[in-house]
Amino acid sequence: MNRSQTIVILGGGVGGVVCAVELRKKLPKQHRVVLVDREERHLFAPSLLWLMIGQRTAEKISRPLDRLRKKGIDVMRGEIQHIEPAERHVTVSGESITADHLIISLGADLAPETIPGLAEAGHNFYTLEGAEGLRDALGRFRSGKLAVLTATPAYKCPAAPYEAAMLLEYHCRKQKIREQVQIDFYAAEPGPMGVAGKEITAAVRQMVEDKGIGFHPEHQITQVNADDRKLTFANGAQADFDLLAYVPPHRPPRVVKEAGLVGDSGWVSVDRHTMETEYPGVYALGDVVGIPLAVGKPLPKAGVFAHGEAVVVAQNIVRCITGKAEPARFDGHGECFIETGDGKAGFGRGNFYGEPLPQIKLHKVGRRWHAGKILFEKYWLRRWF
Ligand SMILES: Cc1cc2nc3c(=O)[nH]c(=O)nc-3n(C[C@H](O)[C@H](O)[C@H](O)COP(=O)(O)OP(=O)(O)OC[C@H]3O[C@@H](n4cnc5c(N)ncnc54)[C@H](O)[C@@H]3O)c2cc1C
Repeated sequence: MNRSQTIVILGGGVGGVVCAVELRKKLPKQHRVVLVDREERHLFAPSLLWLMIGQRTAEKISRPLDRLRKKGIDVMRGEIQHIEPAERHVTVSGESITADHLIISLGADLAPETIPGLAEAGHNFYTLEGAEGLRDALGRFRSGKLAVLTATPAYKCPAAPYEAAMLLEYHCRKQKIREQVQIDFYAAEPGPMGVAGKEITAAVRQMVEDKGIGFHPEHQITQVNADDRKLTFANGAQADFDLLAYVPPHRPPRVVKEAGLVGDSGWVSVDRHTMETEYPGVYALGDVVGIPLAVGKPLPKAGVFAHGEAVVVAQNIVRCITGKAEPARFDGHGECFIETGDGKAGFGRGNFYGEPLPQIKLHKVGRRWHAGKILFEKYWLRRWF
C-alpha cells in the first residue's frame, strides 16, 4: 500500500517512545509518525528509586521528548482530551487528529486522593515530585519510624516498593542513623511479587526481613491521619509513623475510560499477543492494558512488558503498511532487577505467559546485577533519545 499513512501514538512513556522510534526507523518517510504527551520530558521511572536516596537528579534520569524530532517523529505536546476509537480520532488540547493506526500507551493514573489523608501525610515516590519530596524529607530525618506502604495489592513494577524499602534501609546505614530508625513495610498484598510464584515471594520477603525491616502483609490502608501520624488498616490494625513513603492506588486514565475502552479487568482489553483492541487499527499496550494470566492474576505492569509489546505493535503496523516485515507476537517474557542496597541487586527473568504458572528464575543477589541495572539505565536513555 503506497498511500501516505498517519500513525498516532498516545503517550511518550516507555511504550510510546519505543513504538514511535521503531516505526520511524522502519517506515518509509512518506508515512507520518506522531507522538503525543502532556509532558515536556520523558522520565526513566526505575531511577526514581536512586533519586529518592540522593543518587540521581531529575536532569540525569529524563530526556526532552522534543529530541525525537531529530529522528523524524512529529512530537505533539498537549493534553489528550478525547479518543474516539471507532473513528481513530483524537482531540489534543482542542486540536483534532485522525489516525490510520492508533496506539494507546497512556500508562496508569495515580490516585492517592482515594485514601483519606494519604497524599497529605506521605511521599508518593512513584512520581518525580514525590521522590524529590522524600529525598528532602530524608535529609532532615534523624530518628523515628519510617513506614513504606503499598495502598493496593496491584501496582506497576511489583519489585519497586520492596527495592525502595531496602534502599531506604541502606541509606539510613550510610547516614549512620540506622540504630535510631525503625523501618516497617505495610503491604496490601499477601507478599512480594505474587505473580512470580511462591518461591520468589518467599525469597524477596527474606531479603527484606534480613535487613531488619518489619514486614506486615495484607495490611490494606484505609485512612492516614496526618496530624497524629497514624495509619489505619482494613484488618483493624493501627501503626504510627514519622516518615511515610507510599505507592498510591492506580487507575486507568480518565480519557481512556471515557472512550469506553476499559473492559472487565478494569483496564483496556487486548489480544495478548498482538495488543489489538476490539477496534480495527487501534492498539493498546503497557500499563493501560489488563492481560489476565492462567495463574489468576494479571500480567504485571512493567516497563519491560511495555517495551516488548511496543516492538511487536510497531512491527505488525510496518507489515500492514509495507507488507515487508514478518508477523510478530508478544510472548510474555520479561525480566527485572531487584535493588537491595550496598551496590547489589537480584535479577528475575522468565515467561509470564507460562501455564499453569509463570516460569520465573531468580538469580542470586550480587554486584553484577546492580551494575547491570546501571548499564540498562544508560542504554535506555542513550538508545531511544
Ligand atoms: C519507581 C518506579 C520504578 C520502576 N521500575 C521498573 C523496573 O525496574 N522495571 C520495569 O520494567 N518497570 C519499572 N517501572 C514501571 C514502568 O515505569 C512502567 O511500567 C512503564 O513506564 C509503563 O510504560 P507505559 O508506556 O505503559 O506508560 P508510561 O511510561 O507511564 O507513559 C504514559 C505517558 O502517557 C502520558 N499521558 C497520560 N495521560 C495523558 C493525557 N491525557 N494527555 C497527554 N499525555 C498523557 C504521560 O504523561 C506519560 O508520559 C517502575 C515504575 C516506577 C514508578
